[in-house]
Amino acid sequence: MSASIPVQPVKFPPLRSLDDALAELLGHVQQVQGTEQVSTYDADGRVLAQSISSAINVPGFDNSAMDGYAVRAADCAQANVALKVTQRIAAGQSGQTLGAGEAARIFTGAPVPPGADAVVMQEDCEAIEDATSLSGSASGMVRIKTPARAGQWLRRAGEDIARGATVLTAGTLLGPAELGLAASIGLAQLTVTRRVKVALFSTGDELVMPGTVPPQAMPAGAIYNSNRFFLRALLTRAGCEVTDMGIVPDQRDATVAALAAAAQSHDLILTSGGVSVGEEDHIKPAVQQLGRLDLWSISMKPGKPFAYGQIPRAAGQADSVHFVGLPGNPVSSLVTFMLLVRPMLAALHGRVGAAVGPQATMLRADFDGPKADKRREFLRARRNAQGGVDLFPNQSSGVLTSAVWADGLIDNPALCVIAKGDMVRFIAMSQLM
Ligand code: AMP
Ligand code: MG
Repeated sequence: MSASIPVQPVKFPPLRSLDDALAELLGHVQQVQGTEQVSTYDADGRVLAQSISSAINVPGFDNSAMDGYAVRAADCAQANVALKVTQRIAAGQSGQTLGAGEAARIFTGAPVPPGADAVVMQEDCEAIEDATSLSGSASGMVRIKTPARAGQWLRRAGEDIARGATVLTAGTLLGPAELGLAASIGLAQLTVTRRVKVALFSTGDELVMPGTVPPQAMPAGAIYNSNRFFLRALLTRAGCEVTDMGIVPDQRDATVAALAAAAQSHDLILTSGGVSVGEEDHIKPAVQQLGRLDLWSISMKPGKPFAYGQIPRAAGQADSVHFVGLPGNPVSSLVTFMLLVRPMLAALHGRVGAAVGPQATMLRADFDGPKADKRREFLRARRNAQGGVDLFPNQSSGVLTSAVWADGLIDNPALCVIAKGDMVRFIAMSQLM
């Protein structure tokens, strides 16, 4: 028998909970300095830097919610009243005061004339004497078949937004509805927080960039760099400006040089791989050489190893950039990004409520198992047409197919065995990326 090789003791920190890890991470993070003006048209996904209030009422004037006739409700207390059609008001026009016994032909969005206090939809009206009155002429008579109530089918000035009201607050993530609202009060430009600058690295000598070596010519032991692609996409979706620094070889000096260069001009350096405690994991000593690093062991599956650190912008400077080292296994990398880095980026962008995690929905498990784990698990799962949720059969942290198949994660507490019919916490992917 050969002599046993001494094994170095593995110094991995004690497990900590995901909630604690997230709280600590967010405790290190402050909104980045700097804002910019962007066209409202191009502001989707940005974070509003200043609250905005409206200089106008929206709608700006009482207007019709229907095509029909503007009337005085007092004239139409009974059904089948005949009124004289004295004017025609289309959207973009304005009318004159409506007298007693009169009706105005009116169209959706047109200002209701002074004196009118109700609109009767054209389906409840019948043109009489002059057959053209329903199709648009401002002459003849109209029969109002149903009684009208004051205020019906009117959109009141200011009912959406009152002049002076705050419509969007600083820290709001701008999405399609927010952009429309800003435009509705006449804003063509918005002040947003600047994009967080992220340097993205992959580590690992086994990695090959797709496009550089064809599949049939891959050397033994080589794999394609998949993390780079989804991490860049996730960062971009989170509103960041990404510098892709490529693959850093598994060498201490090369890693130190790459990190030092990236620190000069970024807010965050994000790496994947190399954060375990094997001899080939060079991230930890490299970050420690430049700044400081905490290696975390998070009680979650997938995604246990995770590193947070800070690297000075230049040697000897107090000003530093954040460092996050994600695990190398693709699904671990993806899940830790979604649950830890995404909220961190939200905070860096100044988003209000960044610490509030994604909302889980309780759904019925249409599967048994997997067996309980000591760690809190985030299982790749998919909602089915029966209102329940199915589980991807292979939950290994290297199996990216699971993440493509899934439309969400089941957040399963430690030591909890799921049995068919149990209610589980389901977090939709759409909330995580
Ligand atoms: P590491 O954390 O460096 O020990 O890597 C853990 C596992 O993830 C190994 O099987 C690596 O080959 C794999 N891995 C690391 N980085 C990447 C990457 N960028 N793309 C795909 N797989 C990776
Ligand atoms: Mg590695």
